[in-house]
Amino acid sequence: MSASLVTVAYIGAIILFILSLGGLSNPESSRRGNLYGMIGMALAVLATVFGPRVTLAGIPWIVAAMVIGGSVGLYAAKVVKMTQMPELVALMHSLVGLAAMLVGFASYIDTSVVYTGVEKTIHEVEIYIGILIGAVTFSGSVIAFGKLSGKIGGKPMLLPGRHWLNLAGLLVVLWFGREFINAGSIDAGMLPLIVMTVIALLFGIHMVMAIGGADMPVVVSMLNSYSGWAAAATGFMLSNDLLIVVGALVGSSGAILSYIMCRAMNRNFISVIAGGFGTGGGTVAKKKHGEPEGEVTPISAQETAELLKDAKSVIIVPGYGMAVAQAQHTVFEITKLLREKGVNIRFGIHPVAGRMPGHMNVLLAEAKVPYDIVMEMDELNDDFPATDVAMVIGANDIVNPAAEDDPTSPIAGMPVLQVWKAKTSIVMKRSMASGYAGVDNPLFYKDNNRMLFGDAKKMLHEVLVALKA
Ligand code: NDP
Repeated sequence: MSASLVTVAYIGAIILFILSLGGLSNPESSRRGNLYGMIGMALAVLATVFGPRVTLAGIPWIVAAMVIGGSVGLYAAKVVKMTQMPELVALMHSLVGLAAMLVGFASYIDTSVVYTGVEKTIHEVEIYIGILIGAVTFSGSVIAFGKLSGKIGGKPMLLPGRHWLNLAGLLVVLWFGREFINAGSIDAGMLPLIVMTVIALLFGIHMVMAIGGADMPVVVSMLNSYSGWAAAATGFMLSNDLLIVVGALVGSSGAILSYIMCRAMNRNFISVIAGGFGTGGGTVAKKKHGEPEGEVTPISAQETAELLKDAKSVIIVPGYGMAVAQAQHTVFEITKLLREKGVNIRFGIHPVAGRMPGHMNVLLAEAKVPYDIVMEMDELNDDFPATDVAMVIGANDIVNPAAEDDPTSPIAGMPVLQVWKAKTSIVMKRSMASGYAGVDNPLFYKDNNRMLFGDAKKMLHEVLVALKA
């Protein structure tokens, strides 16, 4: 395949990737968006493999790598549970970072292309920055994987003088950068490159370790953005225009997503990076002075069904627990039944519900819930006072009134779904345990709130049976 044909194929792939991103912005067009992305990627891989830069001798290596990588990917995609999706995504990001690092070292020791003068300096700067971004992305994503999968606690690790440590790391990286560029030979340049890589790896670990549980949504999207920049850096090192453009697309869309997540949590991006917000999560919240005291009112599945039957309008708020219980199909069965009875039933989706951006939308789409009854938080938050029943399914932090009422709460300022303003709210969860942010929820003790204790899928099934009876 000639170089100009490869360029044409690359432009086609870039257009398909842009159409893909556009498609993903709306649930109805997201399948099409995915398809565009897959065709674009197939085109990009074929054009690269059959392009002028790959020799015939290299093809078996590429095929072998694709078979191994493809099989691992296929296997992982098949066995991964929906609740493990966020950690899988984090692991994937780490691979992009690792690839950028390895490509950086490979292109530094590669003597087949000789750069001289300014070109040499530019190439070395590309390598240095590429490995830097790659290493931060790699180690940061591995720690994010650990935190999201519960292998590492969500509690922020705050080293004394951590900002100074980071600043010192940055200065050392800059100094060794100068050493690297001024090194006369590959051997002399290797030491500064390795020192910088080690510091970048430690920085990635330190950065994500310092970020508390409640800020993880921002970390997930931030690492997504970093992986894009790592890919773009790889593109620069390999002089591959497609990789540069696609990396920049991923990098900037990830940055926009991070901004949206920060806004959804009323957090400042810099303070997220600075770390320290939120605690471990998953523990029974301890009552401290000033925290809600009181009794909760349990409710049975039968009584829940009665309330739903009598309601004119219902809002369902799904959260992480719905994903754990895989309750989305049963939720939809109930929705269908109530809609047939003329109940106005809608879903309220918080931007950080679940464990990854769009988590709830994916689950509801999988269960074939119509898109027009799935609303964003801002679209229906004002409707709760006119709602008879707000049903919270395995959600906790995203419906916590302390975010609005208690300025000392770790999640203070985060906008939440105001379910307590409905005539009755029903919270479906297994125990009194806290959510991801590890804070108590005063909603549970409100007079108009009922607790339906048990696994979401099991309880919803009982509600469905009672509704049908
Ligand atoms: P939470 O983690 O706040 O609460 C989920 C609740 O579900 C728990 O309190 C748990 O209570 C309950 N639960 C767990 N399993 C089941 C089950 N089988 N049946 C019924 N209930 C169950 O989730 P939310 O969705 O409300 O909030 C998301 C949180 O995750 C936020 O703090 C957000 O910042 C964070 N986060 C979000 C990310 C994102 O990108 N969306 C990424 C990383 C973190 P119990 O154990 O009593 O059943």
